[in-house]
Amino acid sequence: MVERLDGHTILIGLMAYPIRHSMSPTMHNNAFAKLGLNYAYLAFDVTNKELPGAIDAIRTLGMRGSNISMPNKQKVIPLLDKLDPAAEMVGAVNTIVNDNGVLTGYTTDGTGFMQSLDDENLDIRGKKMTLAGAGGAGTAIAIQAALDGVKEISIFNLKDAHWEQAKKNVATINAQTKCKATLHSLDEQDKYRSEIAASAIYCDATGVGMKPLQDQSLITDPSFFRQDMIVFDTVYAPRETKLMQIAKKAGVKHVFNGLGMMLEQGAQAFKLWTGEDMPVDYIHELLFADASK
Ligand code: NAD
Repeated sequence: MVERLDGHTILIGLMAYPIRHSMSPTMHNNAFAKLGLNYAYLAFDVTNKELPGAIDAIRTLGMRGSNISMPNKQKVIPLLDKLDPAAEMVGAVNTIVNDNGVLTGYTTDGTGFMQSLDDENLDIRGKKMTLAGAGGAGTAIAIQAALDGVKEISIFNLKDAHWEQAKKNVATINAQTKCKATLHSLDEQDKYRSEIAASAIYCDATGVGMKPLQDQSLITDPSFFRQDMIVFDTVYAPRETKLMQIAKKAGVKHVFNGLGMMLEQGAQAFKLWTGEDMPVDYIHELLFADASK
């Protein structure tokens, strides 16, 4: 890989903290190498404090752009020149593109989610979704699904720090899209069951199912699910969460972890920077061949 870096190499960043564990540098650098693109992708420890300087550096150093992750996804917005409409609705940015000094913010988690379903030839447009979670992932999924034509979204959340965001998501969707969104507390178990029963897809975008909650699932009763529905967990470590095990026990045919979404959010950013399609199958094979679902 070193041989392909020279004086013309174009730099892409990843600005977050903590970030050294991220798979994104491996994903993007291998994709650049596979396509013979003269780009390099590097992770930088950037907290809110360093963020203004780091964003300035994108312009100063002529970087093509950057990924942005926690704790900077919201804080970065006032530092940019333009926002993609979906990023504006979500209120968060995970990808920056630098066009000759003009920085535009995008969010690719939601498009990554939708694309990962398209990859499986599954179409939820015109259908109903029940979604648990209104954090970063839940918000991006809800907004993009609504923008893409999902007919109804029933959002469930704890009455915790994310409840206000959940209310905001429902208001944004109802005001700015044709989708009908409703919000319920996760305490309303009967409603939770009946909404899932009426949905084409159930998506869990909470952290339940991954460390330190890897032994837990919001749903423990397989009878919540129909065999012909989609059950999607945004968690990808472990590859098979408790929720996925319960869905499989119920005989659900289409059960997914968050790996496809993670790869596709990266692929969407890759396309924005390079104009090229990321070789997603190659990257999947390279990074996750030993751990497929
Ligand atoms: P976040 O902290 O922004 O939001 C967490 C959400 O989980 C909130 O809605 C919160 O209310 C809910 N929650 C937390 N603990 C809960 C509990 N015990 N019971 C019920 N709900 C609970 O986190 P995030 O960035 O949105 O990440 C959420 C999940 O999505 C994580 O598992 C993360 O790994 C995953 N994720 C996956 C991708 C991907 O590409 N596959 C991308 C982003 C996030």
